[in-house]
Amino acid sequence: MLLMEEKILSEGAVLPGGVLKVGSFLNQRIDTGFLREIGREIARLFAEDGVNKILTVEASGIAIAAAALEMQVPMLFAKKHKTSNVDGSVLSAPVHSFTHNTDYNIMVSRDYLGKGDRVLLVDDFLANGAALCGLLELCRGAGAEVAGAAVAIEKAFQGGGALLRGEGLRVEALARIASMEDGNIRFVR
Ligand code: 5GP
Repeated sequence: MLLMEEKILSEGAVLPGGVLKVGSFLNQRIDTGFLREIGREIARLFAEDGVNKILTVEASGIAIAAAALEMQVPMLFAKKHKTSNVDGSVLSAPVHSFTHNTDYNIMVSRDYLGKGDRVLLVDDFLANGAALCGLLELCRGAGAEVAGAAVAIEKAFQGGGALLRGEGLRVEALARIASMEDGNIRFVR
């Protein structure tokens, strides 16, 4: 998606440790017109795949799940903390956070994900693949099928995309970054 590449080049900032900051349009302030385009593109990519639910993880994945509006399916987000909102029987999976270098559990209620669901996983970034692996594990535990995954930005120089595609998962990225050395962002061509 050319628009995503242009947005990254004009507004993204490369931080130490291989982190791309996109707070001005995706992670903190949200460019709503642009978000609509993201949703439309993801919906177009998975239009023929029988998706009946979108699953992401709080907090930054939630905006990308705007694709659910375009696909007219419910969207579900896994929580990172067990609160009174997550009661009853829950599915959980461990995730290692790339940006915070910590481990946490993600969880969803069994009431909201189960057999008969055909799920599209979405997230803002794909780096080492831990977040998507955690979401896959939730789906597996629920007996739900996974149609594929859509991410706004894949950092292809990290291993997550190769790992997940190698396992047979369809992964679509709206922009694929090949490298960010010395602050110069290059895309996969
Ligand atoms: P992974 O689990 O694939 O290693 O990393 C993906 C998760 O970490 C995403 O949910 C995203 O929130 C966060 N993340 C990974 N890399 C970046 C990055 O370069 N910039 C930002 N803003 N978040 C990232």
